[in-house]
Amino acid sequence: MTKRWIEETFHPHWRVALEASKVLFEKKTDHQDLVIFENDTWGTVLMLDGVVQLTTIDEFVYHEMMAHVPLMALENPKRVLVIGGGDGGVLREVLKHSTVEQATMVEIDREVIDTALKYYPQIPLDTFDNPRSEIVIDDGLKFVAQTDERFDAIIIDSSEPIGPSAVLHTREFFKDCKRALNEDGILVTKNGLPFLFPDHLAGTTRVFASLFSCVAPYLCTQPCYFGGPFALNLATDDGLATTNNTAALEKRVNARSITALKYWTPHVHTGAFALPAYAKNVVTKAIKDGRTQGESAKGYASI
Ligand code: SAM
Repeated sequence: MTKRWIEETFHPHWRVALEASKVLFEKKTDHQDLVIFENDTWGTVLMLDGVVQLTTIDEFVYHEMMAHVPLMALENPKRVLVIGGGDGGVLREVLKHSTVEQATMVEIDREVIDTALKYYPQIPLDTFDNPRSEIVIDDGLKFVAQTDERFDAIIIDSSEPIGPSAVLHTREFFKDCKRALNEDGILVTKNGLPFLFPDHLAGTTRVFASLFSCVAPYLCTQPCYFGGPFALNLATDDGLATTNNTAALEKRVNARSITALKYWTPHVHTGAFALPAYAKNVVTKAIKDGRTQGESAKGYASI
């Protein structure tokens, strides 16, 4: 029986195709095209709207860098908000921090959660039922615009700036995230592939610079995101949070008894903020523009 090849359709002039040894689930949900399949190299693969979101062999890279960089940078993070992240990977890493009293995850598509539990339970594990977790099915844009709660860290584990996720890459959304942060709280968002999409990095950095005093993009190497290093972007008004002292990070990871991480280390944390010149140039200009443009600084996507 000929096996099906499933293509990523995100990049305009090139495509990656993955062989599906078995298609486990495929559906157009109320929000997006969702397909989950087995691949002999990457394990179980989740694709949304034609873009690989995660694979079971390398998801730890992205999930550890999304969760541990902001939470290790904070002295005592208690309240955490995750926007998106329906696969449960970021929430799993957040709950490793013994300081976290409650983590709220706001996911727009219930089917992403249900299919994660059914087809790749080794990623969410029991995080959705953890007494410290609160799961909300809602549009992240609406949730942050209406919430009265305040968070020490907000982690935006969205999909690409297309479909339901486009609004999560806008000034309006980031501004409401800032409003929902405690003083000196940290906002982190995924920020695409800077080599191929420098405008995505520039847009988010510009808006962050117009809203916060510290903006610090960092990189990780995510094997299944084809196209070079993957960017995450961090913003805060707490200048100390981005000083990255390796010894202090070592003390924190031990104090929180977090072990067996497969990507994040204190040195990887500090090294992740060292950007290659082509990305550094984009960031330097975007920060300058954001400071100058203020309220009129535009993001990569607009509502
Ligand atoms: N790690 C992945 C990546 O970087 O591509 C992202 C994973 S996660 C699966 C992305 C999640 O964001 C999806 O579950 C999707 O349903 C959710 N999402 C998209 N738009 C959303 C919105 N407006 N509000 C809340 N969740 C949203």
